[in-house]
Amino acid sequence: MKMLINRPEAVVDEVLDGLVALHPGLRRLPGRSVIVRSDAEVVRDRHVALISGGGSGHEPAHAGYVGPGMLAAAVAGDVFTSPSPDSVLDAIRAVAGRPGVVLIVKNYTGDRLNFGLAAELARAEGIAVEVVVVADDVALPASEHTAGPRGLAGTVFVHKVAGALAEAGAPLAEVAAEARATASGLATMGVASSACTVPAAGRPGFVLRPDEIELGLGIHGEPGVRRASMEPADALVDRLLGPILARSGGRPDRAALLVNGLGGTTGMELAIVARRALIRLAALGVTVERAYAGTFLSAMEMAGVSLTILEVDDARLARLDAPTAAPAWPNAAPRARPGAIPTATATAAAAPDFGAAPAPPTPPSTEAGWALDAAIRRAASALIGDAPRLTALDQAVGDGDLGVSLARGAVAVVEALPTWPLDDPAATLQSLGATLRRSLGGTSGPLYAVAALRASAVLRDDPTAWADAFRAGCAGIADLGGATRGDRTMLDALIPASEAFAGAIGAGGTPREALTAAVEAAVLGARATAAMPPRKGRSSYLGDRALGHPDPGAEAVVVWLRAVADPGSRMDNG
Ligand code: ADP
Ligand code: MG
Repeated sequence: MKMLINRPEAVVDEVLDGLVALHPGLRRLPGRSVIVRSDAEVVRDRHVALISGGGSGHEPAHAGYVGPGMLAAAVAGDVFTSPSPDSVLDAIRAVAGRPGVVLIVKNYTGDRLNFGLAAELARAEGIAVEVVVVADDVALPASEHTAGPRGLAGTVFVHKVAGALAEAGAPLAEVAAEARATASGLATMGVASSACTVPAAGRPGFVLRPDEIELGLGIHGEPGVRRASMEPADALVDRLLGPILARSGGRPDRAALLVNGLGGTTGMELAIVARRALIRLAALGVTVERAYAGTFLSAMEMAGVSLTILEVDDARLARLDAPTAAPAWPNAAPRARPGAIPTATATAAAAPDFGAAPAPPTPPSTEAGWALDAAIRRAASALIGDAPRLTALDQAVGDGDLGVSLARGAVAVVEALPTWPLDDPAATLQSLGATLRRSLGGTSGPLYAVAALRASAVLRDDPTAWADAFRAGCAGIADLGGATRGDRTMLDALIPASEAFAGAIGAGGTPREALTAAVEAAVLGARATAAMPPRKGRSSYLGDRALGHPDPGAEAVVVWLRAVADPGSRMDNG
């Protein structure tokens, strides 16, 4: 695991310094791993202070929740290590005034002991302290716990709700009571697809095979409740929601949802998960009043999510909505009613109809039409079959999408093919261009689309002028993409192929002979790209590092051209 750190021992110090440098509302107690609101001195006697914290490695927790309306201070231990009672006591002394302080502690033995001892010491100094323990994990049935359920991402809701109440000036007992009520209205469960690496340990806490996940895990790289097989996101979300909603107290009528990324999860995945959770909760009759998705409480670089449900009423909602300047809290707007969640099917049904009735199938009825139909199908099958290899080639010198893009285009072509006027090659190439334009994407998409258009225009004048059409297609690609032969692109296969094709036809060869000559020229042309420094497209960013690898676009030309030329090639591959 490579990390952007300097020394493992310096991680926590440097994180805290960085956060303070980024956020003017945060201040660090000199020489301590404690972050406080920069106005802590001013407000300490105005209202109750909240303190939370724990091991580091959960960023943006906990320092990200320090600010007016949330925490007064956050105490940071080493990575995944509870802070000392002295650190907690330092934080208490820095922010607690006459109204007192609430310590929000996640239910881990170390945190309970260190925060608990600090509370004792502070009380001995005459400070009013309440301790609220958060144990929102529902992965294990209560009876199987020894240390009780763990505190997970739901803790952030406790910071927010109790923080709003404290900021509004409520007395200590009331703030502590609402913090406890919020904690008991929470249920959280997570799933991970990879573990995390503590910098000082240098290797991951557990190892998952590509097809495995860990269900019901914690936030410290500790393995979960059980290992299971990877499933689509929707199935995993449904799996998590089961125990969450089964939590004692029953299914809430109104709730807030927190979709928490564990550190290595993309925004794409969080949105997919949130969407499913909202659909599912709506179907189960739970009104999700607020939904938040992001990385709230991470476990280093662990890939995975947790879902948290918090029961809400109007008062609690107002506390979630109350403004805060804490840097990591998203000020989410109220949601539309669950009925308004768009689903893929609803969106498709609502897509505007541009009045284009689907064309009736027009099966070819000529020799040329059948041949064209078969050749296109062979080309499509070959591209689908070779997608993994083309992707690997594009991974070496580009962004790794070429095989997938061409396969997507090929599937679209096969789907659309029955509606094409295959007896009319010019019209068919026009349809091919339109389908590729819509489906292929990337750089290849517009280039192949323009080639089909240009070739179509030539065939309109003379449906047998395939050699001219081939050449015109190449010229179209060169015009649009600005590349010439030798720039290490698909043209280095296409141009020699079109020349060989025209040469063979000119010499009186049959179309089959001309195609065979074209394939041979394309193979040589594609092979030669391995020695060409890239000047166009994404590979040009690599410069000489691309040398030794053939151009993936040129290799793709060989794949489909060979399939077109060879009626014996596979057709059953996709
Ligand atoms: P992207 O780089 O957008 O992901 P694709 O993966 O769809 O593009 O296609 C990559 C291929 O496109 C390259 O291997 C090369 O053959 C071809 N290509 C890139 N730029 C050009 C260009 N300007 N002219 C012709 N072909 C190009
Ligand atoms: Mg690419």
